[in-house]
Amino acid sequence: MRGNVLVTGGASYIGSHTCKALAAAGFTPVTYDNLSIGNRWAVRWGPLEIGDISDIARLGEVFRRHRPVGVIHFAALALVGESVAEPALYYRQNVAGTMAVLEAGRAAGLPPFVFSSTCAVYGIPPGGAIGEDVPKAPINPYGASKLMVERILEDYAAAYGLRSAALRYFNAAGADPEGEIGEFRAVETHIVPNAVEALLGRKPPMKIFGRDYPTADGTAVRDYVHVCDLALAHVRALERLLGGAERFVCNLGTGKGVSVMDILQSLGRLTNLDVPVEDAPRRPGDPPELVADPALSRALLGEGLTTRSDIETILGTALAWHRSDAYAALAGAPPGMVR
Ligand code: UDP
Repeated sequence: MRGNVLVTGGASYIGSHTCKALAAAGFTPVTYDNLSIGNRWAVRWGPLEIGDISDIARLGEVFRRHRPVGVIHFAALALVGESVAEPALYYRQNVAGTMAVLEAGRAAGLPPFVFSSTCAVYGIPPGGAIGEDVPKAPINPYGASKLMVERILEDYAAAYGLRSAALRYFNAAGADPEGEIGEFRAVETHIVPNAVEALLGRKPPMKIFGRDYPTADGTAVRDYVHVCDLALAHVRALERLLGGAERFVCNLGTGKGVSVMDILQSLGRLTNLDVPVEDAPRRPGDPPELVADPALSRALLGEGLTTRSDIETILGTALAWHRSDAYAALAGAPPGMVR
């Protein structure tokens, strides 16, 4: 075995897929999660330590018990609209909470640190594929909180020698192709689960938030990355830091833009069913187009990073997860009753 890795938020969607990828690479993921959003059933590849990232004493205890060789820090709040309504909550959890994890790590010998950042740090970018050097101008407290942590990591590198990776994700979607885990939240706002649940007749028609964007078909364009590809990127980032690399920051995306209409059409092709939809106004804070320039991530983390990230593979794995008995059991539907 290659040692323990502390995964804060390891019971979350991206966190749990990363725990599976860590285990496949020979690490033992130790999940630290308060289970406020994360799911206990998703912790399957290592121990679960229940705790809040604001609890530095509890974090210290967990660092001492498991002596992690590295930390992957997912635990955070991540809804743009909520961050606009509740900025205090976002700065407390995402900035002060991360500080507690960093300080507990500093007291435990400063293991390398992989951080979940976001393309929301760019705000409304100038257009075209987004390279890491595009100006950072977040337009909501969520993006601002993540950018503040990136700055803290830079200062910790200079002053304390912390080796870290900040991974700016574009849109995570899809599910474990082996069907063991997938996306499941009490309150769901994301397009892929909402479209799939509407298609399966279990949720109201999916709202198309804006058809008047300056894009080819008028709907917003995003860069969707398969959650398993994101998970692999975290493992590679950690390995790079363990191999002695200094601090780095990179995008995690494919370079390919996919619109809301593209998603609906792909789901139609995959199932021969139409997703029930209704038109709705633009959602506040949604930029028209966010597509990564993936060149730096490929240079730093290697080729083959996005092999599962074409939209039909993403949607196929999401559909299989939503149709599975495992999902039905979670959602309270009788197994076998899911279309
Ligand atoms: N979207 C939509 N209907 C939904 C959810 C999302 O039209 O029910 C659109 C949303 O406006 C955005 C894109 O789909 O343009 C991706 O939204 P999501 O919430 O999945 O991720 P975000 O880009 O906000 O992180």
